[in-house]
Amino acid sequence: MNTFAEVQKLYREYYSFAIKNNLLEIPDCIEYREFGYGYLKKVDNRNLSFKNEREYKSWILKNAPMHLYKSLAYMRYPSNVGGASNKGIFRRELAFDIDVHKTGKCNHEDDWICKYCLEEAKNQAIYLIEEFLIPDFGLNEDDLKIVFSGNRGYHIYIKPKNKDILEIIENYSKEDRRFLMDYILGKNLNLHNIGSGWRRRLIKEFKKNNIGTRQFEKEKNWKKIIEKRKNKEKIYNIIDKSKNKIELDEKVMEDDIRLLRVINSLHGYTGFIVKPLNNLNELKKFNPLKDAIFKYFEEIEYRVDIFDDRKFEIQIGGKKYHHKSRKVSGSALLYLFGHNIKFTISCR
Ligand SMILES: [Zn+2]
Repeated sequence: MNTFAEVQKLYREYYSFAIKNNLLEIPDCIEYREFGYGYLKKVDNRNLSFKNEREYKSWILKNAPMHLYKSLAYMRYPSNVGGASNKGIFRRELAFDIDVHKTGKCNHEDDWICKYCLEEAKNQAIYLIEEFLIPDFGLNEDDLKIVFSGNRGYHIYIKPKNKDILEIIENYSKEDRRFLMDYILGKNLNLHNIGSGWRRRLIKEFKKNNIGTRQFEKEKNWKKIIEKRKNKEKIYNIIDKSKNKIELDEKVMEDDIRLLRVINSLHGYTGFIVKPLNNLNELKKFNPLKDAIFKYFEEIEYRVDIFDDRKFEIQIGGKKYHHKSRKVSGSALLYLFGHNIKFTISCR
């Protein structure tokens, strides 16, 4: 059997299900959005645009891309090539992209995944929401759209329910967006005059590390206090670590013409669903290795011959697969294909 054709058939089956059941994201004001897509590479092509929803859906069914993106920006000329200046951008969605590296507990190649790094990605998403977006930015849980990226990360869109506030933030300049980013990464943290959000966050960390916090709670000039402490190195270290807790792709917030994966599309590297989560609670219970796979793919079985030199092990949908597996589910087939594992299919 032709592997590429079989894989593409699975993508097509998924997209027809997702479109029929109104799951696939239809970006707002679709005629002003740029689209990008890819097969073997992430983005083979961009500058694609559609007049309406019908045209968009039929293109997807016909082409069944393995990676599918929409622009965060709204543009007067989405299909113009040549960067932001030619596209007439007049508004832009705001989203944070958490994309984690593998953790110390991981026992796989850099671009593979396991429950540990997926757990780390989830913890970072929860931290961003609970430590920054809700308390410091004054947002509600309902103002956020939380989406699993399909690989080792999350996309967190800021979509305030209040239309006036949405209007303001979607008209932020690049500098405004950069400022949000810098705040979260603690880049403009001023220890001579600490703000309330970072004060709260750091005091919590100090307590965890048995550092006396009484002075820090009263005084605004932390620099003065720290410099007098014997353990100042340790304190500076904790501050540094707190600044670097979240692995954010800064371009997703900053770049005017940045594309982000369409919600409920499939991620071409993993075959997992770019899955929206309804709320924080759902995020906390979410396990991508089970909850982001298309259930129907689990009912399909392929007989395969894997002839790759690399040794691997991956658990998908509660089943383990490795380099000697002879039978794989549809979901596992997409994962192996996306990770360039060499195999042939003998039958479905
Ligand atoms: Zn891992």
